[in-house]
Amino acid sequence: MLEKTGVPTEQDLAGVIPPRERLARGPVAVIECFQRIPCNPCYTACKQGAIREFADINDPPVIDFDRCNGCALCVSKCPGLAIFVVDETYSADRALVKLPYEFLPVPARGQEVDLLNREGRVVGRGRVERVQNAKVQDRTLIIWVAVPKELSMEVRNIKVGDCQ
Ligand code: SF4
Ligand code: SF4
Repeated sequence: MLEKTGVPTEQDLAGVIPPRERLARGPVAVIECFQRIPCNPCYTACKQGAIREFADINDPPVIDFDRCNGCALCVSKCPGLAIFVVDETYSADRALVKLPYEFLPVPARGQEVDLLNREGRVVGRGRVERVQNAKVQDRTLIIWVAVPKELSMEVRNIKVGDCQ
């Protein structure tokens, strides 16, 4: 399915979603990169040594969840927009998802937005908590969006207004 639609299967995702006990300890990266491509900016961006050095640059990345602190430095560096940070400790009923964003319009902090799953389908509503847009990110913004906790592993994009 991934090759035909670009949407990973449950089996693909099972190999990259952090274990429950790590999710319960705070923000952590979820790297949804499944294809063999010559690429490694995620590795060079990570200051924590959480992404293992690539033996072969075509290999998919391997993350050490215990080293990852959820800083999201890797999120804007990934040309495939394949890295997300999920914090299931954000509040009693909300998780925080930090996601890469290259669309217009750019949402504002506090704005309510549609939450999209990996297929681009609306699955709920969320609130933008922060918009990171530093020069070093080179126009790949990082949107921090608070989502219903049960959607933390579903929400992978947002829709702002009617403009996308
Ligand atoms: S979120 Fe930060 S610590 Fe975790 S893999 Fe990415 S760059 Fe490394
Ligand atoms: S930077 Fe992104 S696309 Fe490239 S290997 Fe890392 S996760 Fe995959």
